[in-house]
Amino acid sequence: MIKTRAMNRREFVKASAFGVFGTGILLKSALAFENDYQPELQLKIKEYRTLGRTGFKVSDISCGIYRDIGLLNAVLDTGVNYIDTAESYGNEHILGQAIQNRNRKSLFITTKLLIRKDVSKQGFLKRAKKCLERLNTDYIDCMMIHSCPDVETLKTEGFHAAMTELKAQGRLRFLGVSNHGVSRRTEPKVSMEKVFLAAAEDGRFDVFLMAYNFLNENNGAKVLRVCKEKNIGATLMKVNPVLLYQRIKENAERLEKEGKDIDEGVIASLNRLKGRTDEIQPFVKKYNLENQSEIRKASIKWALNNPDISTVCCRFQNYTHLEEYVPLSGTRLTAMDARILAAYNKDCGYTYCRHACGECEPECPENVPVNTIMRFNHYFVAQGREKEAMLKYAALKTPKAARCKQCSGHCETVCPYGVPIQGLLALAHNRLTHS
Ligand code: SF4
Ligand code: SF4
Repeated sequence: MIKTRAMNRREFVKASAFGVFGTGILLKSALAFENDYQPELQLKIKEYRTLGRTGFKVSDISCGIYRDIGLLNAVLDTGVNYIDTAESYGNEHILGQAIQNRNRKSLFITTKLLIRKDVSKQGFLKRAKKCLERLNTDYIDCMMIHSCPDVETLKTEGFHAAMTELKAQGRLRFLGVSNHGVSRRTEPKVSMEKVFLAAAEDGRFDVFLMAYNFLNENNGAKVLRVCKEKNIGATLMKVNPVLLYQRIKENAERLEKEGKDIDEGVIASLNRLKGRTDEIQPFVKKYNLENQSEIRKASIKWALNNPDISTVCCRFQNYTHLEEYVPLSGTRLTAMDARILAAYNKDCGYTYCRHACGECEPECPENVPVNTIMRFNHYFVAQGREKEAMLKYAALKTPKAARCKQCSGHCETVCPYGVPIQGLLALAHNRLTHS
């Protein structure tokens, strides 16, 4: 295991030195690694918080999606002890390898099951046992209902019967729920908040994982209050909502050039978007936000400022993320961070289709799942999950954003945040259907 870790760090140095990642920050990192880089000494988690009624002390910065064992080991070496995975992520086996020479009791492992067609107890038992096998562990700390689509799903009897049995066998400790939005097309009256409040009322769920960030403060604040009242562990995802607006602009320009068959309304929407991204350039320069790093860090500190949040799940895609996120442990929002976030909200917040919103969806005559498509777009643009985002988009059974080209943009007129969503959907469709 040590050999693997050392090798990956050398590869990282090599990649950085040859400009594979190509930023000044990484050059600094490369030099640090060459000088006998020791993350055990230099990068350490500084704060652990109680995860609600589980009583477990989890690192305030935790591990969301990870890709390879070298990087995952480096993350765990810093003291990150909460790791979030899922049956559908396809990476449980990597965690299974990484934990073999570690103190299992020092780690809190959460995995998740989507509720599919087979809702029998036997079906859930079989799938959970496969999770245990891939994780190569005797027990799972928390099993979540993955992306719970509505209130009814929380009560799935087969799921609860299977999990009760696993708990009795000592193979599972706690239950949880994750949610990053509910389709308002089919369930106009349901929302992420309603699902979590119902889960809190249900009483069987000990940990929540929700999409929450500084641009989406209203959509989740009530859930956090209830978590505190009922001592439910609150964990966050999608804390950094910052899209690469420079890329939005470039894509808008490209699509405009390519878009011979695009409706005039969409072109007008794209032009509005492009015009506004031009307007914010002074803001970008003033706060040195070209590489988004400062604003990403500020958005995580914003979440850590809230004592009712147990941990922020970060996506560790490379060693730069390790160097960016772990030092944030134990920090709080500074006055300058708050100013940057407020300015970003004012000048750029309109580019962000709020996770877990979907308020405009019932207005769409074509039944386009606006919020879901923009979430896939977020995976592509902000999280580097290009292939996965494209596959998810291709697999959508609902109408896609190609329909938006022939529409007068009803969704855009009702968005309370002024998001030029028709143009963004056209961009998202273009991005998610072209390799
Ligand atoms: S476009 Fe606006 S109303 Fe529609 S889902 Fe996004 S943020 Fe919500
Ligand atoms: S632009 Fe039209 S078709 Fe597209 S999501 Fe909005 S209302 Fe629906």
